[in-house]
Amino acid sequence: MINQTAYSLGANRSVIRDLFEYGRARAAIVGDENIFDFSLGNPSIPAPAGVNETIRELLTDTDSLALHGYTSAVGDFATRKAIADDLNARYAANAAAEDFFIGCGAAPELCAVLKALAIPGGEVLAIAPYFPEYKPFSESAGLIFKVVPPDVPDFQINFEALEAALTEHTQALILNSPNNPSGVVYSVETLEKLGALLTAKSAEYGRPIYIISDEPYRELTYGGITAPWVPHYYANTVVCYSYSKSLSLPGERIGYVYVPKTCADSKELYAAVAGAARSMGHVCAPSLWQKVIARCVALRPDLDAYDLNRRTLYEGLTAQGYEMAKPDGAFYLFIKAPGGDAVAFSEKAKQKDLLVVPGNGFGCPGWFRICYCVSLDTIQRSLPVFASLMEKE
Ligand code: PLP
Repeated sequence: MINQTAYSLGANRSVIRDLFEYGRARAAIVGDENIFDFSLGNPSIPAPAGVNETIRELLTDTDSLALHGYTSAVGDFATRKAIADDLNARYAANAAAEDFFIGCGAAPELCAVLKALAIPGGEVLAIAPYFPEYKPFSESAGLIFKVVPPDVPDFQINFEALEAALTEHTQALILNSPNNPSGVVYSVETLEKLGALLTAKSAEYGRPIYIISDEPYRELTYGGITAPWVPHYYANTVVCYSYSKSLSLPGERIGYVYVPKTCADSKELYAAVAGAARSMGHVCAPSLWQKVIARCVALRPDLDAYDLNRRTLYEGLTAQGYEMAKPDGAFYLFIKAPGGDAVAFSEKAKQKDLLVVPGNGFGCPGWFRICYCVSLDTIQRSLPVFASLMEKE
């Protein structure tokens, strides 16, 4: 017998993957340049040059057995120390090496934290719009997944809806800022209000509610905006970080979980995260990449290309009458579907080889997502296609 939940997750591709695969197949017929594929969040700027230089250095200056051997299950001490030092320098985080678990990117890290917090009847909240994988991650961990309706059109947090969703069974709230799919960065005001609400509710229920802060886009912000450091606004925050987007390394699978000492039961929680990862076979992240990160922890991407893409699309589409969330971070635009039906709009766009993702899977029907990590040329040539779709509505 086969586990049916696992089967259906494996057999049914996500809408995003389906669109991406469709785009690849279509490109083989009409040519790459004639497909406007805004479906998948695959970085389009290269990793900083220092990353490849570091790999070359490591290959020449490090003993092969040390370079490629198992590290400690929770990650190399030197890597964890380098990350702690970096966060202390940038955010006065007061972090130490022993607070970190090095993981294979945000996806398995989220799974480990969710599993660490999964108790019978436990609930986890996601704020719409949210990364669709949160649902299978949460449910596979054994938690009840609940969605907090969106705060339209600003896409900060709908506090009335959040308060209504919190119960004495709430174990955690997944927060993602800069946000996929909205591109919105949660403001200091939002985080202060959130911190105050969760503190009050934790006291009322007599047990901690954790924030799981999913931060693969932390450094991807524009126009002078920076993403506030979430643990400053709520002590019970666990950070899941990934270098997939911030260093353009999505295929290398490297990141970390940070369990600050300010968290309730931080030692036990850290052990539970390590234990949950162990139970899923996720121990000892790739050794070479751990060593790269230890030396490249201060490198930041050159975001000029994303910023230009963002401004070109935002200005171009707004001028055409499209309405969207203010895109201060990540590499997404979240746009109100002309005509109100995002699935129908996405289908019409597909007929013109323009691939956009309807917001239904993000918990936000009526909106669609554009991923702007594509070439500027693609963006410029797509604008007349967007205009023709708008004219039809
Ligand atoms: N969380 C969000 C919000 C994402 O957008 C993604 C990937 O697109 C992930 C987590 C997973 O990232 P990783 O590649 O680090 O597993």
